[in-house]
Amino acid sequence: MPEDNLIAQLSDHQKQLKSCKLCPQMHGPAVHGGPIVSPILLVGQAPGPREIEINRPFAWTAGKTLFSWFETIGLAENDFRHKVYMTAVCRCFPGKKINKGKVLAGDRVPSQKEIGICSQWISTEVELLKPKLIILVGKLAISQVLPVKKLTDVIGQSFNAEFHQWQTDFIPLPHPSGLSTWYRTEPGKTLLKQALNKIEKHQAWQHILEGE
Ligand code: SF4
Repeated sequence: MPEDNLIAQLSDHQKQLKSCKLCPQMHGPAVHGGPIVSPILLVGQAPGPREIEINRPFAWTAGKTLFSWFETIGLAENDFRHKVYMTAVCRCFPGKKINKGKVLAGDRVPSQKEIGICSQWISTEVELLKPKLIILVGKLAISQVLPVKKLTDVIGQSFNAEFHQWQTDFIPLPHPSGLSTWYRTEPGKTLLKQALNKIEKHQAWQHILEGE
């Protein structure tokens, strides 16, 4: 499909996504990156309140950490946003975690029902882009593709699997949340390095670096 056509289709898709109000407990409007034609898809969990305000995925502190990781393998934030299609398991803010009426640190994990409803959007993105590599950020995103009990079982490895009827390569990363110590302590630190090393060596990553 010619690239202009694909950009138009992605833009149209994002326009429809923006007006989605299918989940009553979610806070929209839905967040999306640019209509980037890329061989790489990045899948996060769900946006936070700042991302909703700014309408940009990974726009706040977790994003700073995530982009600092990608910078070590050749792509700074701005370049990454222009070269990689950014999506998520759920596209609206789920709200803060609440227990017995008390608001806790961290965001509510989307329900299986919300994940199921929202998967229609990512399904179309996979169908349009046919990515050569999908980077999964955090356990919720990873678990949509691979069975995962512990991050140590999957981070640092690459996988080939089917996702929305498309067979492709997957490299999981930990969630870069400031509340997590996983990637700042061992064995997480070393496994994160191994995962970034695998992304750097992947043909799709090399392809977008060469296009710089
Ligand atoms: S989470 Fe997804 S399906 Fe639910 S309202 Fe937001 S965009 Fe729509």
